Amino acid sequence: MAQQGQNLIGLSKKELRDLAVSLGEKPFRGGQIFRWIYQDQVQSIDGMTNISAAFREVLKQCVSIKPLAVEEKQVSSIDGTIKFLFRLSDGLKIESVLIPPNDVQEITEDMRRLTICISTQVGCPADCKFCATGTMGFYRNLTVGEILGQIIEARRHTPRRISNIVFMGMGEPLLNYDNVMKSIDIIGDDEGIGISPRRITVSTVGYVKKIKQMADEGRKAKLAVSLHSLDDAVRTRIMPINRRHNVDTILEAAQYYWKKTRQRITFEYIFFEGLNDTEKDIKMLRKLSGKVACKLNIIPFHPIYLPENSELKDTFRSPTAKSLKNFMDRLRRACDFPVMLRSSSGIDIDGACGQLAVKEEVEK
Ligand code: SF4
Repeated sequence: MAQQGQNLIGLSKKELRDLAVSLGEKPFRGGQIFRWIYQDQVQSIDGMTNISAAFREVLKQCVSIKPLAVEEKQVSSIDGTIKFLFRLSDGLKIESVLIPPNDVQEITEDMRRLTICISTQVGCPADCKFCATGTMGFYRNLTVGEILGQIIEARRHTPRRISNIVFMGMGEPLLNYDNVMKSIDIIGDDEGIGISPRRITVSTVGYVKKIKQMADEGRKAKLAVSLHSLDDAVRTRIMPINRRHNVDTILEAAQYYWKKTRQRITFEYIFFEGLNDTEKDIKMLRKLSGKVACKLNIIPFHPIYLPENSELKDTFRSPTAKSLKNFMDRLRRACDFPVMLRSSSGIDIDGACGQLAVKEEVEK
């Protein structure tokens, strides 16, 4: 039985079938509601036109459709990236970013792709030193409705079909495991949002138990692991999580995921000039292929990532064009797996996660 006023966005097909039965209808009515909510993105219960007027009235008495409220929307004049600041029902704010392909990062891939980067938590407990969201502290996990609401609302702002989902916005997805996995089930359902799990990427800083749980559950989503250094001393300095899950443990978990799922792992590596670009770093990266099938995404550090009050402000330096080319050339010569350059989308609109929400906090 649904709670009074419960949001239909966020309920699974089974929950909607159970709801229909609890209201005296056949289970298939729940399947119809599921399609209306996720496939057709209907904005009111009256819009569910293949459901009888009498049952729509019953539904209106006990449930509702509550979309996320757009507090602010910014469109990049450089690359068309759209950034949303959403206001949640308790007044907290989260961000999502719609990213079109750009000629640096997607030149060899499907130019029709449209990716949405979504948040999973308000703030984040992981406290990575280069990340604006990390400085906010942690408020709470997002509900399934709030996770899916970002996709449903963003779809209204583009004529194009969203083709890929990345869980790389605010928060660490694996610390909100159950809600993220339930969301992925609804996204991947042909009668739901209808995006194949193979086009969904879950990014983690390395919560090894949860990586293994995903593997054991036979999840089909792609896994991206934020490494940024293979040197435990450096990684601990910039990512405190490394004290709990060091590099070897994370690589062992990535290997486990690959062996169980046969999915190639993406390793993310923010390039900080002078910090993680030595010959020793390249030697360590080169050894990745002996452990796991992978590709490496190099993301040049940009100061927009950096929180105003970062204690490591002087440590994090953006690479020059010359040093970036040099690092990419050295890596590509050394590694026998794909090494991709990922540029920052939406630089002119503070495209890095947490920027808008942090600005709001500061202004408050
Ligand atoms: S980089 Fe990701 S995991 Fe690290 S603090 Fe930021 S949001 Fe959290």
